Formats: sequence, C-alpha cells, structure tokens
Amino acid sequence: MSDRVFNFSAGPSMLPLELLEKAASELCNYNGSGMSVMEMSHRSAVYEEIIHAAEASLRKLMNIPDNYKVLFLQGGATAQFAAIAMNFMTKNKKADYIVSGQFSGKAAEEAAKYGEVKIIASSKDKNFTYVPKVEKSDISPDADYVHICYNNTIFGTVYNYVPDTGDIPLIADMSSGILSRPIDVSKYAVIYAGAQKNIGPAGVTVVIVREDMLGFAAPETPVILNYTVQAKNESMYNTPPTYGIYFAGLVFDYLLEKGGLEAMEKINVTKAKMLYDYLDSSKLFKATAEKEHRSLMNVCFVTGDADLDKKFCAEATKAGFVNLKGHRSVGGMRASIYNAMPVEGVEKLVEFMKAFEKENA
Ligand SMILES: *Cc1c(COP(=O)(O)O)cnc(C)c1O
Repeated sequence: MSDRVFNFSAGPSMLPLELLEKAASELCNYNGSGMSVMEMSHRSAVYEEIIHAAEASLRKLMNIPDNYKVLFLQGGATAQFAAIAMNFMTKNKKADYIVSGQFSGKAAEEAAKYGEVKIIASSKDKNFTYVPKVEKSDISPDADYVHICYNNTIFGTVYNYVPDTGDIPLIADMSSGILSRPIDVSKYAVIYAGAQKNIGPAGVTVVIVREDMLGFAAPETPVILNYTVQAKNESMYNTPPTYGIYFAGLVFDYLLEKGGLEAMEKINVTKAKMLYDYLDSSKLFKATAEKEHRSLMNVCFVTGDADLDKKFCAEATKAGFVNLKGHRSVGGMRASIYNAMPVEGVEKLVEFMKAFEKENA
C-alpha cells in the first residue's frame, strides 16, 4: 500500500501494516468462527482463547513474573490516575509523586482527590527537559507508593534509572515507553499503559500489578476501577475492549517473532540516534531534551522560530511526513517513533530535514 504516509503521531500512532492487513483479512470471519472478533461474546470459547493468548504473549515478551496479574482494562491511562490512588493510597493515605511532565502532573492532581500527595521532585523548573534524579532519602517513609511517568510523551524524556524506593511500591505510567526495550518488571509494583502509543488501538489499558498490592482498595472504589475485582474476574468483570485486546495480541506475537524487546531496543536506539545525531549537528534544528534523558520514542525539537516551525510542519506534511507538530502546550516539533515506525521512515525524515535546512539557511 504505497499511499501510506510516515505517521509520527504521538498517539494513537502507527501500527505495523502487516498486522492491519492481517486484521483486515480476518475482519468479517475470524478463524472460521463465521463472525468478526467485534461480534463475539467475550464469554465465548473462541474469544477466551484470544484474550488468554494475548496475556500469555505479553507475559513472555515482558518476562512478567508469575506473581503479577495482567489486566486489560478501559479508560486509558487517565482512568488509572484515579484508580491507582483508590486501589493503593489506602494504608497511610499518602503517596509520593515525581512530576517529570504533563501526565505525571495530572496523575498527581487526580490522586490528590483521594489522599495526601507529595511532589518529591519536579523538572518544571526547566520546562521538563530532564528527568529529576531521586534518592532513597527523598522518599517519604510513610508513602503508600511512589509514582513516576517512565517516558514523558510530550517533552520527549525518559527515565535512564529506576528510582530506588526500598520497600515502598514503585508505580509507573509506561504508556509511551512500554515494549520499547526490556524492562525489569520486578522493580515495579504496578505498571500501566494506554495501548494507543506502542501496543495497539486506543481503548485498551494494560495494567500489570503485583499480587501483594491487591485487596486494599478503598471501599468507595468504582467496581470497574477496582483492580482486585478485575484480577479475580480476569479482566472480564464487565465487557472488556474485545477488539483492541485482539489487536494487541497480534502486536505481542509480532514483536516476539521479530526477536522480542531486545531486538526492538536495538532498532529503537538506531532510529533515535539517527535523528538525535542529525539534530546535534544541525544549525537550524535543536533537540529540546537534555542529552542523558532523551526519549527513544518521542523526539522533540525546535528551530527557535515559531513561524519556521510552522513552515516545516506544513512542508513535511506535503512530503508525506505527518503529525510532526509538537504538543499544543509546548509547540515546536515532535517525531514519535514507536516500534511500528520503520527505520526507513526516520531515514527519510532526516533527509527531508537536511533539505529543509539547506533551503532555509
Ligand atoms: C497518552 C498518555 C496518557 C494519557 O492517556 P489516555 O489514554 O488519553 O488517558 C497518560 N500518560 C502518558 C505517559 C501518555 O503518553
């Protein structure tokens, strides 16, 4: 399909063409069932096989230990901002948050409705161009958990370390970083991620939760946000986002086939390096994130001239490089290069940027 563009959207974002085609080929009749996955009862044997296989593949891909539950929920990462607090901020009703961008700020704000939130570190002082370094001594000894946002989608930064929180559970929003490289799940008590960045279509939210975290939800927790109930019911307390889970399963299998997350990391490092190396050598463009915190997934850059940024985005769109405009809150440009962005897309983008630089020097 040569009419496909290189789509640098931050989310919902590109999906592997092969999988879109596979899904299309079985859209109306899945595996001889005579119906679409969209039309199936979530309680049917054929669907149960789909969701169980998706979970098994994700477990294998991320090497998720047996004492963790994997949930496929709805409501996006934003619903989890509240759910995290309702499920886990229930012992001392206190939690520590590290604010490294807009989403972690929103997570903290939402949690503050349910208990005492302490912002133990923030990178707001430099417009979130870095990730704060937190030491064990910064953490409140009575915090029910510490919350981080692993990859900052809007500002293009990523944690290059796992905060040492000792016995205090570490919870991470990994919406835009999950599956980008291997992650030691055992270092986290809870990991959650909306699917629409690096997993599949919007509508599914993956929650990976250590079993000992379950059983402490506040009594007023809405049942669909109650991880204990969802875990007991294997994500089927109510109707799960069935089609999205099916597609996520295709993505998990595809990544396993391609060599898993070690292989993804290699490709992702190659793609990001290509773009950052050019940005560092360019006289026109400049990367905005500090070097040691640069995201592999979201590459943010500016020319320093808002009109020129606008011109760049317009010309890029015409040339088939779409959705390069930075988040509305920060301006500039952002190239989101999740797993599904081929190396070729980044190569061609860099060529295009070089030509643009020449013309606009
Ligand atoms: C996109 C994103 C969110 C918001 O996700 P929704 O699914 O829209 O709720 C939260 N956190 C991070 C890190 C994100 O990238």
